[in-house]
Amino acid sequence: MYDVIIIGSGPAGMAAAIYATRAKLSSIVIDQNYVGGGQVVDTYEIDNYPGLPGISGMDLGDKMREHAEKLGAQFITDLVVRTELTGPVKKVITEKNTYEAKTAIIASGATHRKLGVPGEEEFSGRGVSYCATCDGAFYRNKVTVVIGGGDVAVEDAIFLARACSKVYVVHRRDELRAAKVLQDNLLSLPNVEMCWSSAVTEILDHTPDGESIGKVASVMLKDLKTGDVKPLPVDGVFIAVGITPLSALVGDQLEMNEGGYIIADETGETSIPGVFAAGDVRNKQLRQIVTAVADGANAVTSVERYLLQAK
Ligand code: NAP
Repeated sequence: MYDVIIIGSGPAGMAAAIYATRAKLSSIVIDQNYVGGGQVVDTYEIDNYPGLPGISGMDLGDKMREHAEKLGAQFITDLVVRTELTGPVKKVITEKNTYEAKTAIIASGATHRKLGVPGEEEFSGRGVSYCATCDGAFYRNKVTVVIGGGDVAVEDAIFLARACSKVYVVHRRDELRAAKVLQDNLLSLPNVEMCWSSAVTEILDHTPDGESIGKVASVMLKDLKTGDVKPLPVDGVFIAVGITPLSALVGDQLEMNEGGYIIADETGETSIPGVFAAGDVRNKQLRQIVTAVADGANAVTSVERYLLQAK
């Protein structure tokens, strides 16, 4: 029986592991991946984590893991398939084992949201991608389109513009949501073309002249102001239309908001005593690495308080 099981090894889970080991709590971190579910490691460059300007997501994730391991944190690489959180003993059932603890920290994070247009599923991996840093290298000197107007879309477009001959950015409004510094950087690039107030309505494997090539060849682009639809020839489609919380494995037990985020304030306390939420899976104002690590630290402090009271 552990003091705390931490589900997820992204920044929130890593910070929780560091704080838990320093607090001498017996703890494990369970994740199917080495460093979280990909949001951090898929980021080419992070420029707003204090003290480490310009670090790559991969390097930051590795550093966090090394830090936690150096302090003695124990990581289990396994897929969580089910949780039983309502009783005094919190059970986490993975593919290989069952783990029990007095408390649990849910730091399972979030993943990319689907666009939901025809061709998206069909051509996923054949021209449709959700990760520019993973797949961008396939599009050297090619034409790509990025869909979205948030930090991820703009970062992806900047990254792709280094290698692609042309990058279209399709955004449904005439103003980007991304941080101003990213916007300025994007809009200064000569090979980036903005498609404002527009939407991709279909992803196709045939060129505008009708030839089918079995992978992405074009998208249908709709001007949302005029309603006009026209084909846009592209080699790759990068979808960055936001994130969706990875809360399904606790969903029927904890209170959630309508977006599926676990309801918890900065103490991490959820609707079940002894269960805490940290990072992107929690309803909160700002989803950043710096707020995720703060959540991890806060959640461990709440765990300590809970264990003291339970004695
Ligand atoms: P986001 O900030 O929620 O932006 C999603 C974008 O996609 C928005 O521009 C949105 O348009 C658009 N969108 C949503 N649904 C759409 C649809 N069905 N069709 C077309 N467009 C759609 O998501 P994100 O960029 O993935 O970022 C996720 C979180 O991580 C955010 O909190 C972000 O701040 C954070 N993050 C931070 C950094 C950083 O600080 N460097 C880097 C990466 C991520 P509207 O603008 O019209 O809503």
